[in-house]
Amino acid sequence: MTDFTKRTFSSDLGINDIGKEVSIMGWVDSLRDHGDILFIHLRDRSGIVQVVFNPEKSSPRVIDLAGTLKNEFCIGVSGHVTEREPDTKNPVLSTGDIEIIADELEIYGKSPALPFAVSEKAAELCESVSGTEPSSEEIRMQYRYLDLRRPSMQDNIIKRYRICKCIRDFLDTHGFVEIETPMLTKSTPEGARDYLVPSRIHQKRFYALPQSPQLFKQLLMISGFERYFQIVRCFRDEDLRPNRQPEFTQLDIEASFIDEEFIYELVEGLVIKIFEIGGINLPRPFPRMTYNEAIDTMGSDRPDLRFGMKFEDITDIFANTGYEIFRQILKQQGVIKGIKVENASHRLSKNVLQNEYAKQIVPGFGAKGMTWMRVVGNTLQSNIIQFFSKEEQKATVKRFSAKGGDVILMIADPSPNSAASALGHLRLHVAERLGLIPDGVFSPVWVTRFPLFEETDEGISSNHHPFTAPDRRDFNPRDRGELLSLRSRSYDLVVNGEELGGGSIRINDSELQNRIFEALGLTESDIGERFEFFIKALQYGAPPHGGIALGMDRVVSMILGTPSIREVIAFPKNRSAYCALTGAPSRIAGKQLRELGLLDFSPAITIPGMHEEKDLIDSLSWLSRIGIKDEEKVLIESALDDAVRLGSVMKEHAGGEEPAFSAVTLVNRSRSGDTARMCELAENGDLLKNAPSVTGGFFKVANIIE
Ligand code: ASP
Repeated sequence: MTDFTKRTFSSDLGINDIGKEVSIMGWVDSLRDHGDILFIHLRDRSGIVQVVFNPEKSSPRVIDLAGTLKNEFCIGVSGHVTEREPDTKNPVLSTGDIEIIADELEIYGKSPALPFAVSEKAAELCESVSGTEPSSEEIRMQYRYLDLRRPSMQDNIIKRYRICKCIRDFLDTHGFVEIETPMLTKSTPEGARDYLVPSRIHQKRFYALPQSPQLFKQLLMISGFERYFQIVRCFRDEDLRPNRQPEFTQLDIEASFIDEEFIYELVEGLVIKIFEIGGINLPRPFPRMTYNEAIDTMGSDRPDLRFGMKFEDITDIFANTGYEIFRQILKQQGVIKGIKVENASHRLSKNVLQNEYAKQIVPGFGAKGMTWMRVVGNTLQSNIIQFFSKEEQKATVKRFSAKGGDVILMIADPSPNSAASALGHLRLHVAERLGLIPDGVFSPVWVTRFPLFEETDEGISSNHHPFTAPDRRDFNPRDRGELLSLRSRSYDLVVNGEELGGGSIRINDSELQNRIFEALGLTESDIGERFEFFIKALQYGAPPHGGIALGMDRVVSMILGTPSIREVIAFPKNRSAYCALTGAPSRIAGKQLRELGLLDFSPAITIPGMHEEKDLIDSLSWLSRIGIKDEEKVLIESALDDAVRLGSVMKEHAGGEEPAFSAVTLVNRSRSGDTARMCELAENGDLLKNAPSVTGGFFKVANIIE
């Protein structure tokens, strides 16, 4: 019966096909055995159709074979389409008016008991299903091929494809070309650690997997392509956070002879189109907010605009306050800021405000405490209201345009940044707790004019990446204060408090680029070693250019409303950057490490009598005079790996000298700083003086001692 050319997709079948002979292929989604008659749901990529095995209508051979079917067997059925009895029609299935009476059955692949239920329709129909529910994510990942059989997962992955296709079509009509850039490349600084790939051909040298195609897309602008894009995999070895993957997909865009407005226009058009695939309409134009405004009014550079509760600065109202805590903070040039939670007085009890928020939650956000006030008419009420004058109360009510029943939450802190950040967290916490964030609303915003640099423990680093154009070029790269005051021509696209992408107008002249590197503390030789090729390229008529990258996993996840980005990636890593399906990252054979030049096994000098033993295990076998069988080699190799790792640790502790795990001459190598010398006993020959002979720096000793 296997004539694949005759195959029909199940969802193509309907009432108009009654009486037709059809051939369908797919998986057993669920079975219902009614004693004499067996019903199955056959699932293919398009949907589900019911198949009936009836002893009165099918041959005994087919009925017997059908009796062996289990969930998720891969099968082919040929039969004819019939209309179901009116009372057995199934409105949940698109094919629910019909069923296939099986004439032939072929089993292409059997399946053992399932680790979890694949069928989703059966669950929907409240039919019993075998296997457990797709319980832990770890199990789902381990059997990802089964997990991906679930229609909802297929839908996610197929919609992801549709979104990518829509992007390609859209950018194509705007004159963009997709160009691939290397995966094996040199490090591109995006603020994360690189994944490195050792080179076998150039031993002890490494490629870096791209953190982004940043430098290549800029080179493509210098090459004159003018409009480039790529849906591209990027790799960043970052600390793990919930919605992050060590490898992720970006929509990477770059264009020449453009400014910020071009990017806003292009990306808004594109983003609106792809959100429509999920039935979401975004308002256009997207609002814009400078970084400062976002921090000042929302306490975050990823402001969530779905709800209000913007900050009010009330520092001036309390300039001469009698409240000691505020006085102390203001003395230190601190600030007092607050948010108004409308009509929440009855939902935020004194206990919640004082004991939960003021004492526990807000200190967890990095502020010392929180002051709360209930609005009653024109005045305020709280546990410390006696310290506030009537004027202060009135002015506060006015500043917040507050009315009876509102609650005002304030944070005072000597550091304006800490106050803003803590209040930002508090704003989100209260909004979530009280359900103030509306469902189904999507609020995009462009955040612009970020600081060019930020202060870190090690000095100064780029806020985006070092190729971002500053807002002015007349700065002194050694003046820290001045550097920290610079703004960049960068922009982030934020939707519902989540950063979906970011980019910038770039530096297009080598002199300015060099000065930025200098500001970042790179020496001339660092610059030469890491970026010489790029600085050189900038000298050959680099056009003004800029671009952006959107994180596709996040974008797709938001459009499809999935709880995590792992739901829209076919084969994701888990939260610890581990692939439960393949077991990557995994150990590798010492042989491979050696081939890559990652082990320094070659002794500085050859051991007398040692022949040219190439294989490490053979060498070991030779050295220990123990025969090692082939099947034992694997175990020995892994033990040796451990020894090598131990050796590396020892090497670290031994300072910059030669590794302690290579064959050692009788010379003190483990005390760093000491001049290498023979140990006295070795020097005067007392050590192993009974050894039969001495050659060079080595004693030839009895095998047992070796
Ligand atoms: N390369 C940047 C990033 O990956 C985006 C850009 O500046 O275009 O974040």
